[in-house]
Amino acid sequence: MHLNIAILPGDGIGPEVTAEAVNILKAVGELGGHTFTFTEALIGGIAITETGSPLPDATLDLALSSDAVLLGAVGDNKFNALPPEKRPEAGLLRIRKELGGFANLRPSVAYPALAGSSPLKPEVTDGADILFVRELLGGLYFGTPRWWNRDTDAPGGGEAINTMRYTRAEIVRVARIAFELAAQRRGKLTSVDKANVLEVSQLWRATVSELASEYPGVNLDHQFVDSMAMHLMNTPRNFDVVLTENLFGDILSDEAAVITGSLGLLPSATIGGEVNLYEPVHGSAPDIAGTGKANPLGAILTAAMILRHSARLEPDAQAIEAAVNHVLTAGHRTADIARGNSGATVTTKQMGRLVHQALAESIDRRQAMHAV
Ligand code: NAD
Repeated sequence: MHLNIAILPGDGIGPEVTAEAVNILKAVGELGGHTFTFTEALIGGIAITETGSPLPDATLDLALSSDAVLLGAVGDNKFNALPPEKRPEAGLLRIRKELGGFANLRPSVAYPALAGSSPLKPEVTDGADILFVRELLGGLYFGTPRWWNRDTDAPGGGEAINTMRYTRAEIVRVARIAFELAAQRRGKLTSVDKANVLEVSQLWRATVSELASEYPGVNLDHQFVDSMAMHLMNTPRNFDVVLTENLFGDILSDEAAVITGSLGLLPSATIGGEVNLYEPVHGSAPDIAGTGKANPLGAILTAAMILRHSARLEPDAQAIEAAVNHVLTAGHRTADIARGNSGATVTTKQMGRLVHQALAESIDRRQAMHAV
């Protein structure tokens, strides 16, 4: 397997955590005989400092000609006074748009070893393993008309409008991804909408339901977004793949992050466009940048998603996830997840090395089994 991966470390802790993710990918490549090539480029505040643009053309060209893009994080307080279109975050928004991914995947997994880090009771989170599939290019965030008439004295003033709009084709393409992922997982798909009130949700529900007959191995059910918000906190392990539109997905996937317990552990992938974009969920965390306190596990789990969705190396993706689980079970913690843990905390680099070691041991075992 050959894969060209563009690495865009970005700002703050971005370079620290992506370095650990790249080390893990290199290890998978070496141990499994794959050729992964890594090419770094600038994005965000560092790109503004060095080139004047938060997304230089060279970075965009590299991303568009790669098989996958791994992005660390962008954001630097020193640019806070700039207008939004000139800030580091503008580079992130533009690359997401240019790569064109419409399905945002966010796993929410309860790690038994971290049961104490979640504000939810362990008996509630135990066994939870949810994959959110959020539609990313439609709905309220993009629908027109949209405006805010700020002149409260003018006729029609003091009014603002956003439009939730979807076409059948936009729903079909993201729903197919969700059905396919559910078929590869535990065969359960929950589609979330507000079909009791919104026409756009009625179209959503009808379209998703029509597709169900093409995926006989997947059990589809529907939830209204308000009751889903409650079920997620009461019975998270009842869900496998959750499909929803942009706004509902934005809110519900953040809510479900509570199941895992720390921002530093959450990976994400945006697929379906020209090139898949992979990012840990967290930002550039300027408060801990350069201190060695950043948790690299979100970035490392993001690397596992690259192997799953861009390289079709499922056993290797699972090996990385198992290595992370192993390291957590052995009691190793970065500062963000150290609450209630008796052992010493480890640095970003130490955590990366521990996962590397666990991964190498598990891949060696797998190869030894195949050799017998
Ligand atoms: P943040 O995610 O950077 O940090 C929130 C809190 O979580 C901080 O206390 C931070 O120390 C902690 N944290 C985050 N990631 C961690 C990790 N891997 N390990 C340990 N602790 C971690 O969010 P913020 O503080 O709201 O934003 C900081 C900057 O990041 C801003 O400029 C913002 O615009 C940007 N941002 C970028 C992205 C992105 O690049 N995808 C996402 C969110 C925020």
